[in-house]
Amino acid sequence: MYTQHPASFRDSVDDMFTQAARLMDLAPGLEEKIRVCNSTYVVRFGVRLRGQIHTFTGYRSVHSEHHEPVKGGIRYALNVDQDEVEALAALMTFKCALVDLPFGGAKGGLTIDPRAWDEAELEQITRRFTYELSRRRLISPAQNVPAPDMGTGEREMAWMADAYKRLHPEDINARACVTGKPLQLGGIAGRVEATGRGVQYALREVFRTPSVMAKAGLSGALDGQRIVVQGLGNVGFHAAQFLSTEDGARIIAVAERDGAVMNPDGLNIADLQAHLRTTGGVEGFPGASFDPDGAKALELDCDVLIPAAMEGVIHKGNAGGIRAKLIIEAANGPITAEADSLLRNRGVVIVPDLYANAGGVTVSYFEWVKNLSHISFGRIERRQEEDRHRLLVEELQRLSADQGLGWTLSEGFKQRYLKGADELELVRSGLDDTMRGAFQQMVTVADNDSRVPDLRTAGYMVAIGRIAASYRALGL
Ligand code: GLU
Repeated sequence: MYTQHPASFRDSVDDMFTQAARLMDLAPGLEEKIRVCNSTYVVRFGVRLRGQIHTFTGYRSVHSEHHEPVKGGIRYALNVDQDEVEALAALMTFKCALVDLPFGGAKGGLTIDPRAWDEAELEQITRRFTYELSRRRLISPAQNVPAPDMGTGEREMAWMADAYKRLHPEDINARACVTGKPLQLGGIAGRVEATGRGVQYALREVFRTPSVMAKAGLSGALDGQRIVVQGLGNVGFHAAQFLSTEDGARIIAVAERDGAVMNPDGLNIADLQAHLRTTGGVEGFPGASFDPDGAKALELDCDVLIPAAMEGVIHKGNAGGIRAKLIIEAANGPITAEADSLLRNRGVVIVPDLYANAGGVTVSYFEWVKNLSHISFGRIERRQEEDRHRLLVEELQRLSADQGLGWTLSEGFKQRYLKGADELELVRSGLDDTMRGAFQQMVTVADNDSRVPDLRTAGYMVAIGRIAASYRALGL
């Protein structure tokens, strides 16, 4: 198992927020308004399974409604509780603001071990949970749009979308009630890989930014850099796979639940994932050494560390042993506030979660717009292709601008669209634009204000600035 720090995740996020907010000139009371979680709904519902009624506890927390819908995944894990869901909802608010998506922040969770139930049972539980959320409008294309998170994926989103549609057959936008759906049910190409792909684009941008490279003591290209990854789930797998096969990075260690595997020449990630799927662990992976104490891998000598498992894994107890030059937070909240300052004082550069893992929700935004506009992105028909594409670009622009969705199409995106690029190409280019832009905004704040100690604080400042601006626009 991964070792976690017991301090409150919520407090940790609040500390990081406060550190940034104090450097800003916010109207009286606004700091608290932005920091607090607006509401958390806790539901206990029974499902008849295996001859008896089992009671489950579910949460949906809405952190900020400065934009609606509010957005954020639904997690299925045994350690899900109110503190965790509220911390994750807060991170969603700041993440969406930093990459400039017109969403407020939310998160949901169900306290459940998804491995303990079979597919048909999970379907029943998920449909019942959706019903409970729907009764309180905590799932709705206009107000609250869940997505996958740890322990959930396309399958759960398909059940949720279908359950919502049955409850609201008149809702023409029903498909937009969740994102991360399978392609056949209104999903979008590239959503499954999106968070890991975003981590890759983020790291590429680090390597293109001299001031950040110098601070981390890194040099050269991504090719050949030694990377340690914790967690080979959806995010960790895709990040490690793309960085090793497309950028030439060496994944020298991967930590999973049962321990860590290491090979200084680099691990083959696709083979390792296949091994993990068949054996349930990383132990015994050919050509690699194994250590049952997976946490030790975090302290290996490496260039880049990618915690992609869960929150609180780097804490004051192990921060002193971390030898990476740069940590990129693919998971939400992997570094506690205490560990964050210890690492900063030692000169370790941290690319913060609210930026580094924003790829998932960014592509969720593309999916949501696609569902609302009732069109498919990309090549529609060979005949009259140019005209159709032009009409669709106009339609997207109208949606984004006139209806206040607040997102503009970049020139590159439009050009690729008019040329008839396929959906996956468009999604990747939109994601790349987003990751590059947000990184440079953070770096500009960090480099031009000597009071700003790190990228995380800079990221929060960009995000808080945008949220404060929307409150000001409302006259608050
Ligand atoms: N669960 C993902 C996250 O933590 C994605 C959320 C979404 O797509 O709404 O960012």
